[in-house]
Amino acid sequence: MTNPFQQLEADLAERRAAHLYRRRPVVSTPQGPTVVVDGVTLTSFCSNDYLGLAAHPGLVAAAQAGAARWGVGSGASHLVCGHQAAHEDCERKLAAFVGKPAALTLATGYLANLAVITALVGREDAVFADKLNHASLNDACLLSRATFKRYAHNDLDMLERQLADTPARRKLIVADAVFSMDGDTAPLAGLLALAERHDAWLFIDDAHGFGVLGEGRGSMAECGLDSPRIIYMATLGKAAGVAGAFVAAEEIVIDYLVNMARPYIYTTAAPALIAEAVSASVDVIADEAWRRERLQDHIRLLRDRLAAGGCQLMPSATAIQPLEMPSSEAALALSAALRQRGHWVAAIRPPTVPTPRLRITLSAAHDTAAVQQLADDLIALLPTLSSPRSLS
Ligand SMILES: *Cc1c(COP(=O)(O)O)cnc(C)c1O
Repeated sequence: MTNPFQQLEADLAERRAAHLYRRRPVVSTPQGPTVVVDGVTLTSFCSNDYLGLAAHPGLVAAAQAGAARWGVGSGASHLVCGHQAAHEDCERKLAAFVGKPAALTLATGYLANLAVITALVGREDAVFADKLNHASLNDACLLSRATFKRYAHNDLDMLERQLADTPARRKLIVADAVFSMDGDTAPLAGLLALAERHDAWLFIDDAHGFGVLGEGRGSMAECGLDSPRIIYMATLGKAAGVAGAFVAAEEIVIDYLVNMARPYIYTTAAPALIAEAVSASVDVIADEAWRRERLQDHIRLLRDRLAAGGCQLMPSATAIQPLEMPSSEAALALSAALRQRGHWVAAIRPPTVPTPRLRITLSAAHDTAAVQQLADDLIALLPTLSSPRSLS
């Protein structure tokens, strides 16, 4: 008898040997600055809960009231009978908040990216994507069957050459506004100028900017940019602390997605209680500027203290503060050593990123002492890295 899963086992063994095997740590607390993971209490520097809203009592209360009012299931897709008044209200609120005529909510950001790109471009079209875009954008580009051109990270000249060369019917430029594993930002004004010059649309994934930048209204607001050509997407499971995503654009674009986007049409609507929690989150994001200020203070503190200790982070002004590592093995070893000192920092390895790194994320929920302690422990541990084995 042959083992029917032999090839799968071989693939996983290869990943293990290359220090690329993954497992899922089990967290037995709500998300917050301190979590219990696999039974150990750690300070978390790996969630995307940048504003500390994932367990915010007001959002929890909104979800509970939402469950009491709407039940827990939406019953069907939006086009059949799953589109409830809570979804409708939430979409209006999100559109108004980011200054767009209309918005559409979806159950996840991954789904939103699939929906937008596969609906807007097809075989006769071309999509132009930054090399460091999120995996969900790349998957969406492949699924769309459009000609898929990738330009070097933030390289506007290369993008312009690609735009000038294309015979495509429709052109869509796609970029993360804040790059999820690097923390740096896209040249949004330059991208919009190219979209205008070459009659393209610009699709911006602001998963890590919404709630944080532009007084919470996101990266376009931060840069003071607005254009009907911009199709804006943000996720609601990161700074907003809940789940899902929304697309904000001209009415015609949203109407087109409702009618044409298969990843929107053929899936059950997210529960209305999620929409209620998101609406509550938008209020907190709008009202509590102190969360963004506190996050900025932590970013400055971490960078300054590490620089003073001779430790160079990758260039980033956002809550994502990665530390490049010479190898996946070294990244795992440093992550393990930090864990022994009570810090939880994820080692991010290929194929998620081209080069291994520790991805440190900061939150308004951290206290200053925790950020200082992380910096001090990193400075103490880094010199031992030349012989990574000594760390483990
Ligand atoms: C997290 C993320 C997504 C996916 O959003 P989910 O709601 O987690 O599915 C999409 N784009 C970027 C840049 C992300 O970081």
